[in-house]
Amino acid sequence: MKKRLPENLSIDTLAIRAAQLRTDEMAHSEAMFLTSSFVYDSAAQAAARFAGTEPGNIYSRFTNPTVQAFEERLAALEGGERCVAFASGMAAINAVFMACLSPGDHIVSSRSLFGTTHVLYEKYLKKFGIEVTLVDIGDLAQWRDAVRPETRFLFVETPSNPLAEVADIAALAVIAHEGGAKLIVDNCFCTPALQRPLLLGADIIIHSATKYLDGQGRCLGGAVIGSAEDMVEVYGYLRTAGATLSAFNAWVFLKGLETLALRMRAHSAAALAMAEWLQRQPGVERVHYAGLTSHPHHELAASQQSGFGGVLSFEVRDSEGQANREAAWRFIDATELVSITANLGDVKTTITHPGSTTHGRVCEEEKRRCGIGDNLIRLAVGLESLEDLKQDMQRGLKAIGF
Ligand SMILES: *Cc1c(COP(=O)(O)O)cnc(C)c1O
Repeated sequence: MKKRLPENLSIDTLAIRAAQLRTDEMAHSEAMFLTSSFVYDSAAQAAARFAGTEPGNIYSRFTNPTVQAFEERLAALEGGERCVAFASGMAAINAVFMACLSPGDHIVSSRSLFGTTHVLYEKYLKKFGIEVTLVDIGDLAQWRDAVRPETRFLFVETPSNPLAEVADIAALAVIAHEGGAKLIVDNCFCTPALQRPLLLGADIIIHSATKYLDGQGRCLGGAVIGSAEDMVEVYGYLRTAGATLSAFNAWVFLKGLETLALRMRAHSAAALAMAEWLQRQPGVERVHYAGLTSHPHHELAASQQSGFGGVLSFEVRDSEGQANREAAWRFIDATELVSITANLGDVKTTITHPGSTTHGRVCEEEKRRCGIGDNLIRLAVGLESLEDLKQDMQRGLKAIGF
């Protein structure tokens, strides 16, 4: 049973209240339906469910009430008509391409991207005759010039990982629509708590729920959000290909969403304070964070986001003048509090060397073009005390001679 909600609720409220799932027992916390299939009163009812003439659950590969509650809540947060959940963020991205593209179709994409999305383009989409043109995220002329008659999607991740570059979503939506294409935004770094791309003109949203939607580094999951019409094929692909989100993970994400708005504000405040502090340290050559007024995309980010998020990156140079992988690794290895892991979106602060982890499979030339240097370190600022975190960064600085 679903509780009806008043109209025009804020994101903070929707993240807690949208799509509440009430069982007959009226449990206050959403119920977790850990079941692979659902039973029918009669053979006739089973036939009607399969034929789609009677609504109701069939089999958890494609219908599960807990997963559905997560989908409905996320759709409400993004302001989209429909959400389809997947087993991971990559499964969500892959599903959109597989469901909507054919050989000969073309994608224009920013080159600053989650590393695995690059691999998907290069190794798999290419194999099926789908070509991708990579462009610089902030250069609108490059985006416009790359659009061809067979372009079906513009794909952008904003802010980008790991350099926090920002794309003008409204401008990209216009370029996409003028070219008869659709704009896909991977909204993983901001989440709807800080940025709602559909309201800026984007057509499809991608999420890795693994990151901030969970918020505590527990489960993998993903989602696609868009118009009911666009989601028909995406849902059909899920039903057939089966990269399904488990009910357990969906339940964890429902709990995670309840604190999403609060966490995103806290992550943003902590990351901004850390970026400003790092900027003043000897040994830190450059800090990449759109919240800094010195960042080239600061104004744009401020105009389309309500916060700058929790992820920043910085370049180090040791006291001997070396700005290389060795210096970055020494810094990382000297930390004692933060976790050395490539994951992000966790209340625990994580530190990683993008060049040899998240972007390790991207070729050297492409890494250089993206600006991912060997001396770059990414920090996903969690919710520990800022003073404790600064002290840990101080250990890193000491290890490179400062
Ligand atoms: C992690 C991530 C993905 C992939 O999500 P998974 O859940 O790990 O499959 C996609 N895009 C961005 C921006 C990410 O950070």
